[in-house]
Amino acid sequence: MTDTNRGTGELLESAMTIDNADASVATKNREDLPTLDYDAIVIGAGFAGLALIHYLRKLDLNVRVFDRASDVGGTWAWNHYPGAATDSESYYYCLTFSPELLQEWSWTHRYPGRKETQSYMRFVADKCDMWPYIQLNTEIVDAQYMEERGYWQVTTGDGSIFTCKYFISGMGMISEPMIPKIAGMDKFKGPIFHSSRWPTEGLDYAGKKVGIIGAGATTVQMLPVVAETAGSVTVFQRTPNYILPAMQKLMTPEWEKEIKSNYDGIISKCRNHVFGMAFDSPVGRNAIDTPADERERIFEENWTGSFRWVFETFDDLLATPEANRMAGDFIGKKMKARIKDPALAKLLVPNFDDYPLFAKRPPLDHGYLEAFSRDNVRLVDIKNQEPLVEITETGVRTTENEFEFDIIVLATGFKAYTGALEAFPIRGVSGQTLSHKWQVQSSSIMGVCVTGFPNMFVVTGPQAPFANLPTSIEQNAMWISRCIDKMEREGLDVFEPQAAAEAEWTTATSNIHEQTLMADGDKVNSWMMGANRDDKGARVLIYFGGANAYYDALDQSADEGFPQLTFKKLS
Ligand code: NAP
Repeated sequence: MTDTNRGTGELLESAMTIDNADASVATKNREDLPTLDYDAIVIGAGFAGLALIHYLRKLDLNVRVFDRASDVGGTWAWNHYPGAATDSESYYYCLTFSPELLQEWSWTHRYPGRKETQSYMRFVADKCDMWPYIQLNTEIVDAQYMEERGYWQVTTGDGSIFTCKYFISGMGMISEPMIPKIAGMDKFKGPIFHSSRWPTEGLDYAGKKVGIIGAGATTVQMLPVVAETAGSVTVFQRTPNYILPAMQKLMTPEWEKEIKSNYDGIISKCRNHVFGMAFDSPVGRNAIDTPADERERIFEENWTGSFRWVFETFDDLLATPEANRMAGDFIGKKMKARIKDPALAKLLVPNFDDYPLFAKRPPLDHGYLEAFSRDNVRLVDIKNQEPLVEITETGVRTTENEFEFDIIVLATGFKAYTGALEAFPIRGVSGQTLSHKWQVQSSSIMGVCVTGFPNMFVVTGPQAPFANLPTSIEQNAMWISRCIDKMEREGLDVFEPQAAAEAEWTTATSNIHEQTLMADGDKVNSWMMGANRDDKGARVLIYFGGANAYYDALDQSADEGFPQLTFKKLS
C-alpha cells in the first residue's frame, strides 16, 4: 500500500518502479508534453477501481486509483450503519474476471453483510496484487482537462497535483449523500449524521433514543438491528415502500458446489439479464393473461426472497399498469400479514395509486416490518399526519409532537448517478464543469462518456441502467479498456465524445423512459429520477431499456471502433 504522506515526486518515482513503466505511453507522440505521472487516474477504490486496475494493467498501463476512504470497498467502506448488507445475492455480487478468484472465495450467506463484502474486496486486491496501484486517504478536490495538450490534471486535498492521459471516475452511482435542508439541523446537541457516514469507530446506541429520518432501503436494513438494543427508535417516514422479503440463508457446501461448478452460466445469465442479475427470466408469460388463481399460485410459489420475485414470476410486472397493480397488491397483502396493527399497516404499505412498484427501488427486508411490533419502535408519518418542522437542540419537532433523541440518523438517500461527479469541480473543455453541464439534463454517451470532457470515462454514470452494479461496472471497465487499447495501439492522443452521439443516447433514454411506468411524474418521486434532490430538478437519469440491451450497445460500440468518439493525434 502506498504511503500517502509523500510528495508528488516520490510517489511518481515509486509508481514508476512498481509498475515498471519507465515511459508513459501517453507521451509517445508529443514531445512537448510533460511526462505524465500516470496513464490513467481512477477515483474510487470500490468495485470500479479494482476492475479497472485489472483491465488497464492488462494493457500495461500505469494506473493509479485514489480514494479518500482508508480502505478499499467503495460503498462498503462507507456504509457502516448496523445491518448494512447487499441486496444482490452474494455469488453474483462480485467481479468475474478471474475464474480462480471465483473458485477460491467462499461466501457465508445468501446476502453478505458489509464487512464480508469488504473482506472479499480486500481478498481481490491481495490476490491480484493490486495494492501498489491504490492510494487511500487521498481526496481528489479538482480535476481539469488541459485542453492545449490533451491530458488531465488532478489535485488532491493536500495540494498535490498529478497528471494523466485518461481520467476515470469510479466514484459510484449511489455515493454522494443527500443531506436534506431541515431547519435547525446545526442545533442538535447529540450525534447527527448521514447513514452512509455512520461513525467508523462505532457508536454506542444501546439504551439510547434514536431518531431515523427517512424510510428507504437503508432504514429497512438498519431498523431491526438498531431496535434490538436501542432504548427507542423513531422512524420518520414520508413515503412507504413495497418491501420484498430477503429470506436470508446460510451458504451450504452443496449450494456453494453447485454455484462454483456453474460460474460460466451464472456470468452469462447476469450479462444477458435486464437487471444484470443471475435470474431465470424472461419467463414467457404475462400476469394480465393469466387467470387469477393461477397468477396467485405463481406469485406464491416464487415468494422465496430477493428481487427474483419481480422477474421470475411474470414478464409484464414492470411494463403495464394492470400487471404492476397486481404485483403491488400481492406484496401489500404479504406485508399486511406481518404487521399486527391495521393502522400501522395503512401507513407502511403503499399501493399502485401511490406509485407503481419499482418506481422506487424496493428494499429487501430482514425483519423491518416485525420491528414495528416492538414496544421501543415507533413510526411517524411526516407526509400526511404530522409534517416535520425542525430539528431542535434535543430532538425533532413535528406539527403535532416534540421528540427527544440522543442520536439522529439522516437516512435520506443519495444524489444518485451524478452527485459524486458534481461534488468537486471536474472541468472539461473551456473549463466547463460537469455540474454546470448537468444543470438541466444529465446527458452522457451510454453513461460512460460526456461531450466536452475528452479522455474522461465515467463508470456507471447518468443514463446507464440501474442493475446489479458489479455486472455493469465490469461491462463498463471492459468497454473503457477496449477504447484505451485502441488508442494506445493506434498512437492516438485524444478522444472527444461526439455531441450527436450524446444527443442520440439522451433521446433514446428519454424515449424509453416515456414508455415506462416511471414517466408518471405526479406519482414517481424517486432518487431514480433525481427527484429527491433539492438543488436540481428531476430528470431522466436511468437507461430503462434493460441492462442486457445496454451491454449489447457497449459491445457494439467497441466492435465498431467507438463511432461515438472522435479520435485525434496531437502533433
Ligand atoms: P432512499 O431510498 O432515497 O431513501 C431516503 C429516505 O429519506 C426516503 O424515505 C425519503 O423519503 C426520505 N427523505 C429524503 N429527504 C427527506 C426529508 N427532507 N425529510 C424527510 N424524509 C426525507 O435512500 P436509501 O435508503 O439510502 O437508499 C438509496 C439507495 O441506495 C437504495 O434504493 C439502494 O439502491 C441503495 N442501497 C442499497 C442497499 C443494498 O443493496 N444493500 C442498502 C441501502 C441502500 P421519500 O421517499 O418521500 O423521498
